[in-house]
Formats: sequence, structure tokens, C-alpha cells
Amino acid sequence: MIRFDSIAAATPDRAVLTAGFAALNRQLETGDRAGALAAWDRARRDFETWSALVHLRFAQNTADPEAKAAREYADALAPEAADLETQFKRRLLSLPDRAGLEREAGAHAVRLWETDVTAFDPAIKPDLEEESRLSARYSELLASASLSIGGQTVNLAGLAPFAEDPDRATRHEAERVRWSFFEANGPELDSLYDSLVRLRHGMARKLGFSTYTPFGYRRMRRVDYGPEDVARYREQVVTHVVPLVARLLEQRRAEHGWDKVRYWDEALIDPAGNPKPAGGHDFLVAKARTMFDAMHPKLGAFFRDMEGGGFLDLKNRPGKSGGGFCTSFPSAGMPFIFANFTGTHHDIGVFTHEMGHAFQNHMSKDQPNADYLWPTMEAAEIHSMSLEFLTWPYMGLLVGDAAADRFRRMHMIGALAFLPYGVCVDHFQHEVYANPTASPAERHAMWRRLEQHYMPWTDHGDLAWPAMGGRWQAKPHIYGSPFYYIDYTLAQCCALQFWSRARRDPAAALGAYVELCAKGGSAPFQDLARSAGLISPFAKGALADVAREAEAFLAG
Ligand SMILES: [Zn+2]
Repeated sequence: MIRFDSIAAATPDRAVLTAGFAALNRQLETGDRAGALAAWDRARRDFETWSALVHLRFAQNTADPEAKAAREYADALAPEAADLETQFKRRLLSLPDRAGLEREAGAHAVRLWETDVTAFDPAIKPDLEEESRLSARYSELLASASLSIGGQTVNLAGLAPFAEDPDRATRHEAERVRWSFFEANGPELDSLYDSLVRLRHGMARKLGFSTYTPFGYRRMRRVDYGPEDVARYREQVVTHVVPLVARLLEQRRAEHGWDKVRYWDEALIDPAGNPKPAGGHDFLVAKARTMFDAMHPKLGAFFRDMEGGGFLDLKNRPGKSGGGFCTSFPSAGMPFIFANFTGTHHDIGVFTHEMGHAFQNHMSKDQPNADYLWPTMEAAEIHSMSLEFLTWPYMGLLVGDAAADRFRRMHMIGALAFLPYGVCVDHFQHEVYANPTASPAERHAMWRRLEQHYMPWTDHGDLAWPAMGGRWQAKPHIYGSPFYYIDYTLAQCCALQFWSRARRDPAAALGAYVELCAKGGSAPFQDLARSAGLISPFAKGALADVAREAEAFLAG
């Protein structure tokens, strides 16, 4: 078994990287293309491993000056590495024997490189470094939040249990505390985003794009759909999901006896209180082990390797960056799960969502090409969000048998209610980058208008900052990962299809899931989806069908 603390990676510098690519070029000159591709693949896995370690250590302790310096060094080196790598991709693409290249490297990899070379130019190197610096500042600012509630001091993640407390006044207080933090830091949050938008627009112009949007899609390596497909999908959500979520909220209002559903009521889904994990960290890890063993031998063995090798860091503690994610060390073939436990149902997602990413990455470790270790993000979120549904039969282990049905119901309502919010976050970014000179106040107005379109039920009450249009500033993807967010909503449509199949034939659904994970990123999103028997979310009726079945499930 591989141990996390045994994974080491030498710190590269520009000279070492340059020498490495010079050697690869010499190998190409001798006609040994296959040898050069194999050596490059090893070098990419080593570089990725080093970069992932540095970023993980910073996330584990944003207050550690050494970890911060290492991250800054890595962020400064990344554009240099991208420059050398892009030059090498251009070189490969300029070779006469394209069919041979596609045979050796994979046709999809070659298509990805063709996209990559249009999304980089040495002229944007300083901008990329500045972009990393601004994104890191946003993470640091949010991680610095020290908030008082219920006699405790918590960070933003620590607000979660209060934000869904059955007591309405407590939930209101949690949101008051949260948004007071954003209001107090509003000027810096506005100025950070303003800088990021102008910077990204400037990079796009330097590369010959009219706005950031086409450049952003290329950075996401989307080769099989564009902004028009995404816009049509958002409208599918408006047609088939927004009215359904409105009906579910009205039902909840009546169940609770509220006058209106306020913003701080939305997180309390279950009238009896949202089901919580039936125990803390050690309990959940042990139950997850039982669950994965029961589900599939490959899932069981993999979880034991993750746990035994020290590839889980799940407890919330001061200075830790917010949220949860899965990263990986490709030279070792192992991923790592980072999370902040809060004692709420969100903790379950570590085992059902992040484990999906981790399992896929591990299953794909022997893919012949570093480009195939992860798929593009909308496909990657199929692995995570589908596992959330495929683990349904075992939920009793994590939340207790008595709460399992209520948990499943809460998950489904949450999954549906997420869609309007998710497409709103996406639409907002399309408007932002189409209007790069908008003022911060105009951006808040854009958000307010879109929020009314996608979530017409929203009532912020006396929460001044979100009422003014500032809700988007709590979403890290908007700052650090532009255009990523739609990926969750596309994947949700696929995950709901896995849910539907698992209701009829759980073994077949799980088998198709494991097979899909092993395919990694060897094909574009829609091809991967189709290969698993899923209907592309862009196809007419795909979302309508699952929304109808979900509504029937909730009614039954
Ligand atoms: Zn995910």
C-alpha cells in the first residue's frame, strides 16, 4: 500500500524544465516519437505530482508562510511550464505524420492539444501569474473569516450547522453573520473580481479572441459543445426544473407553517430537521468502509488504500482552506481527499461525492496518456454526483436506518434545487465576460436580475448584502474557476439518469459506473456519457425525463 507521506517530488525550476524539453526535442529529431511521448508523459506526471502537493499543503494551512511561499513559487513557475509545454505540443502537431501521432498519443489527446495551443501565448505569462495571485488572495480572504455565533468562533464552513438549524432565528443569525462578513469585505471582493475580469478579458484579446468566453471554454478544454448549447440547457432548467422547485418550496412553506420561505429557510429541507451523520469522523470513516465493501470489491479495496495510506484530511480546523476537493499525485497513482467536516449532511458528500472523483482518478491511473487521467470537469462530476445516488441503498449506515428515507428525500430536493442556482452562476459569468467594463455595482445588478429569472422565490429579507446582489461573491468558482459551474448542472442530469437506472437494476447501474470511471478522460464529455448509456444533457428531453421521475419519486 502506498503511503501519502512517502510521496515526494523534486522541486523543478525553469532550467530543469527547459533541459527536459530540449532532450524531448532531440529525441523527436532522431525520429523516436513514441519514446519522446512516453518520456514526456512521465515528466508531466512528476510535475503534476509536485504541483498537487504544493497546492494541497497550502490548502491544509493557509497561514503557514512556508506553504504560502511554495505555492507562490509554483504559481510563478506554472506559466513558464505552460509555455514550454505549449511549444512542445505545437512541435508535435507540426509533425507530418498526423495519423501516426493520433495512433500513438490518442486521437482525443491530439484534439485537446489543438485546443490548448490556441489558449496560450507567452504574452499572457505575467497575466496568468497575476490571475493565480488574485485567486489565492480570494481563498485567503475567505479562509481568514473568524465569525462569532452561538458563543463559538467558527470559519465560513463552520456556519453550516447553524445555517440549517431547525430553529429559524438561529438560521437567520447564521446568514446575518455570513453576509456581514461579505459586506465588511465587499470593497476588496469587488476589486478582486474586477481585476480578474479585466485581466481575463485582456488575456483573451492578446490571444485574438473578442471576449473571455471562447477563451474560457478552451481553457476548460470543451471540444464538443459551445455557449449556445449551454444557453439552451439553462432554458431547459427554466422550463422543467424552476416550476418544480417552486412547487417543492411552497410545499415546504406549508409543512413548516411559515408565512414565506425566506433565504435562511432554504437550507432546512426536512421539516423534522435535516438528517445528520449518525457519528463523527471516525464513525463515518468506519461506516464508509463497510458501505464500499458492500457496494463493489473495487470500491472497497480502494477506500481501504485511501484510509490506510493517509490520503484523507477531513476535519475542519483553523487556517484550513474552505470547501472540499479531490486532488491527485499521478506519479503514485493515488488521489487525496480534502474536506472540512461540520457535523452536517455535507460531511456525507466526502464519501459519496469526493470519493467518486478519487475512485475515477485511481481507476484511470493506467490510462496511457496524462491527458486522460481526469476527464473535462462536466464528465468528472458525473463520477462524483452519480456516486451520491448510487450509495443511496447504504445511507442507513451513515445517517442511521430511521433517517435513511428522509436523507434520500433531502438529497433529491437539494439536487433539484441546485440546478436553478447552478445555471444562474453560469449565466452570470457569461454576462460578466460579455461586459468586461461593467462596474461592480452593475455586476451586482446583473446577478439580481438573473437571480429573479432562475430563482424567483428568493427573498433575502433583511440581509442587505445578498439583497443588493452580492450572493455570488461567496462562490469560489466565480473567482478561481471561470465557467466551471455549469459542469455540475450538466453532470447532475447524468447522475439523475444513473439514479433512475439504479432504481430498476442497481447492479447494472453500478457496473456501468465502474466502467465509466476506468475510461477517465479518454473521450470528450458527450461521448463518455453515451458510452455509459446516458443521454447527453443537451439532447431534447433528457432533463425533462429525469425531472418528471424525480417529482414522481418525491410525491410517492
Ligand atoms: Zn466534484
